[in-house]
Amino acid sequence: MSYPDKVYLNGQIVDSAEAKISVFNRGFIFGDGLYEVMVQINGIFFYEKEHLARLQSGLHKVNIDFDVAILNNEIPKLLHAAQLTDVDCMLYIQITRGVAPRQHSFPSNIKPTVMIYAVPKVLPEINLVNAHVIIRKDFRWSRCDIKMTSLLGNVMLNEEAMQHDCYETILHRNGVFTEASHSNLFFVKDGAVYTHPADEHILNGITRIVVIELCHLLGIKIIEKAIKVAEIDSIDEAFLTGTSTQIAAIQNIDDHQLYSGNKKGPITKRLQEAFLKLK
Ligand code: PMP
Repeated sequence: MSYPDKVYLNGQIVDSAEAKISVFNRGFIFGDGLYEVMVQINGIFFYEKEHLARLQSGLHKVNIDFDVAILNNEIPKLLHAAQLTDVDCMLYIQITRGVAPRQHSFPSNIKPTVMIYAVPKVLPEINLVNAHVIIRKDFRWSRCDIKMTSLLGNVMLNEEAMQHDCYETILHRNGVFTEASHSNLFFVKDGAVYTHPADEHILNGITRIVVIELCHLLGIKIIEKAIKVAEIDSIDEAFLTGTSTQIAAIQNIDDHQLYSGNKKGPITKRLQEAFLKLK
């Protein structure tokens, strides 16, 4: 991972070393902000409309007054300055509530801070990882549907995976699997695909939505119902989804091995191949 050369900050494109915000920015003080990540593949942002719609919906939920339609003009300017027009890259957008003296309540005329950058990124055609994951309790707050910048819970849970040389941490709450520290979680059981419903306990990933659509297209039974932790021994396949993860097969959950060697489940493989055709 490297820093970008150029950053878009509040309407200006600046060298990233010169991009400065106030220490009283509520994004810095409270983590009071949202973000979005999308990838450009062959000159097109993959499901851009859906990513921007999720951002707009999140802004609405937290009452940050910003119209994401503005970004349709601003993103190309940033890409041009960064020499990434039509280049495979990852785009990060962050919108915080803005700057105000530190107190929980905020002035009604506060102006959001908008920061965007892009870095080159070529995703593999198919994510070939056979992921080893650990299980932890989902101790995050109860509004995981909001893609907020305050990711300390996710960072702590992900770090545990890193300490165990694992790819991800899958999470459970109230006896059922929710999602993972930075991806959504799917299981396959008796030929049907299961994933947690899109409620306040998970982020409704754009890749999650795409995979659900693919299941419908391929005639694979898809059930938006959480799998119980107690059901783990009856699972046939499991996989993770996310913008850069794409679809990653899970091989081991703690000490429970689903597959050995380079094998993966037939439904995971079918979905990976169908996903590849969308790009
Ligand atoms: N859940 C969490 C907690 C995430 O951070 C992410 C994004 N990396 C996802 C799910 C997947 O979302 P998307 O497919 O939109 O990248």
